[in-house]
Amino acid sequence: MSTPRKDGLLLEVVDLAKHYKVNTGLVFSRTAGTVKAVDGVAFQLKRGETLALVGESGCGKSTTARLVLRLIEPSAGQVWFEGRDITTLGGSELRAMRRRMQIVFQDPFASLNPRMTVGAILEEPLKVHGIGDADTRAKRVEELLGLVGLAPYHAKRYPHEFSGGQRQRIGIARALAVEPDLVVCDEPVSALDVSIQAQVVNLLKDLQARLGLSYLFIAHDLAVVKHMADRVAVMYLGRIVEIGPKDAVFATPRHPYTRTLLSAIPRPDPHRETARQIPGGDVPSPMNPPPGCHFHTRCAFASELCRTQSPALRPTDASGHMAACHHFETLPDVVVERDRAQAPAAAKRLALYAERRARGPASAG
Ligand code: SF4
Repeated sequence: MSTPRKDGLLLEVVDLAKHYKVNTGLVFSRTAGTVKAVDGVAFQLKRGETLALVGESGCGKSTTARLVLRLIEPSAGQVWFEGRDITTLGGSELRAMRRRMQIVFQDPFASLNPRMTVGAILEEPLKVHGIGDADTRAKRVEELLGLVGLAPYHAKRYPHEFSGGQRQRIGIARALAVEPDLVVCDEPVSALDVSIQAQVVNLLKDLQARLGLSYLFIAHDLAVVKHMADRVAVMYLGRIVEIGPKDAVFATPRHPYTRTLLSAIPRPDPHRETARQIPGGDVPSPMNPPPGCHFHTRCAFASELCRTQSPALRPTDASGHMAACHHFETLPDVVVERDRAQAPAAAKRLALYAERRARGPASAG
């Protein structure tokens, strides 16, 4: 088997796609269309690195994560893990590979079996992979609890006896039980109180430094991403529209969609004026995405070219920063000017929404 592995590279995703047929009719015999949940996604992840996948709900980031772990089968593409395409593996080879790739789920309560003690939950993956005897596993459970800041006596307790933050610590300990190289973190802090989020994010960073973990970090909260990621990939309607080093993407976002996401990050200074950019219209249906650039129906800078030709990801500089926009070279100054022009209209629109909400559902429409 040929291997596209390069030095330091742990994961390489190539043209990954997941398409779902939508059936309709009395016995669902007629195909009404195809939802392209993930459509030609490609990225790389190095050892010890964190790549954040960001975007609105339904953009395909969680589906991408599940494809990488092969929890669902791809429609096309490859997932190379240390030089082996895991989409071609089966049986014991796939099981051995899965041991090295684990996941931390969004909802720590729903992901823990309420009928099992924490000790049994942490021991389970060791049993599944045939690791150690009962004594070795008990020691490992104790070690894992210590690793995530819990005490040995917590092993005898049940998930409902813990707070949300502690439950997520248990979820992280379970993911680390089999000593993986890659951990997919699927919105790991979005279900937690803001005061607890920082503790869990810091724990993840600390574990990464100690154990040399690589993270594929799925999130919609860009403030968390800014703290956590080394590189960022922005997804829109199943495709990556911008990818690059975190500092470059946050300081000089090149894609208009990335700019709208970044402008929505709350700023702690109430006196600082920000021109929040709000894309027009709703997110189009992934079953019937607009032709050309998928973002053109919401983009203030769309040209005729955007409506007909899909833009490819192109380098914006030599740092590995890339954007899929026909016009990113000419956007920066224009965007700032248009932001200013859009700000009063956006404020008016927000005031109108607030007024409608206050009037209640009877006044909707
Ligand atoms: Fe907007 Fe055109 Fe760029 Fe798409 S390609 S983001 S429509 S300017």
